[in-house]
Amino acid sequence: MNNKKSAQIYQEATKYMPGGVNSPVRAFKSVGLNPLFIERAQGSKIYDVDGNEYIDYICSWGPLMLGHSPSQIVDGIEEIIKKGTSYGVPTKIEVDMAKIIVEAYPAIDQVRMVNSGTEATMSALRVARAFTKRNKILKFEGCYHGHSDALLVKSGSGTITYGVPTSPGVPDDVVKDTLVCRYNDLDAVRDIFEEYGNEIAAVIVETVSGNMGVVPGKQEFLQLLRDITKEYNSVLIFDEVITGFRLHYNSSVGYFGINPDMVCFGKIIGAGLPVGAYGGKKEIMDMVSPVGPVYQAGTLSGNPLAMYMGKKNLEILRDNPQIYTELERKATKLAEGLKSNIEKLGLDYTVNRAGSLVCLFFAKGPINNYEDVTKCDISKFNKYFKEVLKRGILLAPTQFEAMFLSNAHTDEDIEYTIKAIYEALKISHNL
Ligand SMILES: *Cc1c(COP(=O)(O)O)cnc(C)c1O
Repeated sequence: MNNKKSAQIYQEATKYMPGGVNSPVRAFKSVGLNPLFIERAQGSKIYDVDGNEYIDYICSWGPLMLGHSPSQIVDGIEEIIKKGTSYGVPTKIEVDMAKIIVEAYPAIDQVRMVNSGTEATMSALRVARAFTKRNKILKFEGCYHGHSDALLVKSGSGTITYGVPTSPGVPDDVVKDTLVCRYNDLDAVRDIFEEYGNEIAAVIVETVSGNMGVVPGKQEFLQLLRDITKEYNSVLIFDEVITGFRLHYNSSVGYFGINPDMVCFGKIIGAGLPVGAYGGKKEIMDMVSPVGPVYQAGTLSGNPLAMYMGKKNLEILRDNPQIYTELERKATKLAEGLKSNIEKLGLDYTVNRAGSLVCLFFAKGPINNYEDVTKCDISKFNKYFKEVLKRGILLAPTQFEAMFLSNAHTDEDIEYTIKAIYEALKISHNL
């Protein structure tokens, strides 16, 4: 594998950008490699500047349900650009987009578009705190909710990979109201509510955590969160930045049959453009300016290009439910293939899957929480990552992320991947 051009660009990149990247996990530092610089991508394939081709399981970390640059979505975008790239004055497509999201998510009445998942969760918390007139929030170890100060506590993938439980630069005062419990631990939730229940403004949770590998929330855990927040008049926020429109067209409401009070979206609803959204019941969203007193704004929020891409993406997902059955089938095939690989090789590892999110954990299962995840053999994973990459497959360069399937991944892609992973496991474990 020739990486000459990537290496050259990387050298220049480190001069002008911290670590040469605009988001830490892209640096490949965790796996001891230099990053790849990408030239283009199409469908399930991604190509670096040296001309290497990979089957892509990063898929922009989740947004690309239909793969890279699907013509059903990108065709027509030039027309939109010619009409203007941003107005700062309302457009009809923003209304269409909001309507699609609200109709797909029966738990909410209204939605506000923002530009990232981080903005969505940060804003949702502000609204929930104002609505309840309380300050404390409860989050779970290993769940990532973007990088706003109050939520950057024990927060998964990037922070686990780089061993930063809480980032410097976040004042203690800002996180003193952030309570943290173990994921999937019902007793811990009951205990914390017994102690602080009447001060808790909101509980924020990933229904399936995609930021410590793939760790699905147990049905009874999510149900407890629903019941206990109702009992204490706290706001239940589902952070569906990864799971939204991925697990199911009706997101976690469809997948788990549980309705939160508020929801955060990102990733998929922008189909690869910078988008986020938060929504809730009308009485909660009435807190948001200009109706209510909670200030939250955005120069590029509801941007016409992002709305065009996002709306088309959601319409395709809405009108073609077979996409979800197909994705489920392909993800099952991949997960079963990985299981059979580790069995054949006698490795006591674990495969978790939820919908089209798959993760091979380098540890004995079951993997139900952050503590379980930290038992993974990272040095083995890093060797494995390199072997997989050599075989033309791009995984997230960390143990603590999912393999993201898109509907552009073909059966041949998956069969090739299973075989290549078998060889990579064998070599990296000296078997
Ligand atoms: C990616 C992610 C975020 C942050 O979204 P950005 O668009 O990167 O700011 C928040 N929550 C979850 C669950 C995520 O996976």
